[in-house]
Amino acid sequence: MRRPIAGTGWKMNNGAADAYRYAAALKQALTGVDVSGIDVFVLPPFTSLHAAGAAFANSPVAIGGQNMHWDDAGGWTGEISAPMLVEAGCRYVELAHSERLQHFGETYPLVRRKVDQAMAAGLVPIICLGETAAEKAAGRADEVLSEQVLTSLAGQPIERTADVVLAYEPRWAIGAADAASPEYVAARHAALRRILREHRGENAALETRILYGGSVTPENGKELIEIEDVDGLFVGRAAWKAEGFARIVKIVSEAASRKKSF
Ligand code: PEP
Repeated sequence: MRRPIAGTGWKMNNGAADAYRYAAALKQALTGVDVSGIDVFVLPPFTSLHAAGAAFANSPVAIGGQNMHWDDAGGWTGEISAPMLVEAGCRYVELAHSERLQHFGETYPLVRRKVDQAMAAGLVPIICLGETAAEKAAGRADEVLSEQVLTSLAGQPIERTADVVLAYEPRWAIGAADAASPEYVAARHAALRRILREHRGENAALETRILYGGSVTPENGKELIEIEDVDGLFVGRAAWKAEGFARIVKIVSEAASRKKSF
């Protein structure tokens, strides 16, 4: 039903030469692993997209951007547009990563514009959602998630909901010592599915893929991927080296054959 996903964002790591090395090492580490039942993506920095696209050509690994602008072209110095990502061979674009919100002042009304542009260009937006530590402490996590997801999707017709990928990434668990507990993740993912059901209908709730991200490792990933409403793992640090990502990909592909919700 929901095809599982293993993905990684490299952030500001891995230039073009490293992208080639990473791709070669990942292919090697995944020799003999059946990834036909899952989607796999890597989000390199912009200047590594071309190299990564060439290095992963004819492989099951798709590439994507880590951000994009809401306009197609024009006087936006330093920015990259959706058509440019498509031209660079991207299938995905990550939007609303917590570092974009925290350090670059991005907001969900802005994310909504980017989602609309990405969808119009044929990209799959990976929309990050997550509460801060203060919002968690105030018991507001589900309220925050609801506002974030509904704002992000507001420009899209109901029937296109499942064309996006949601990534629940509690902001306090990104780059942290530990991931959120499996119980906590299960509750937030279930809440997200309830929110989708209530506001975007049954099909959207059943079909939209929701990844978990935030200090995932090959060690905790096994338990996290078994959670009913978790459709994949989105990994930072533990996948910046190809061997680490290969372990995550294996965990997700093995879980894919077991999980009924998939
Ligand atoms: C992230 O930055 O989206 C992320 C999940 O990072 P890490 O796995 O390193 O916490």
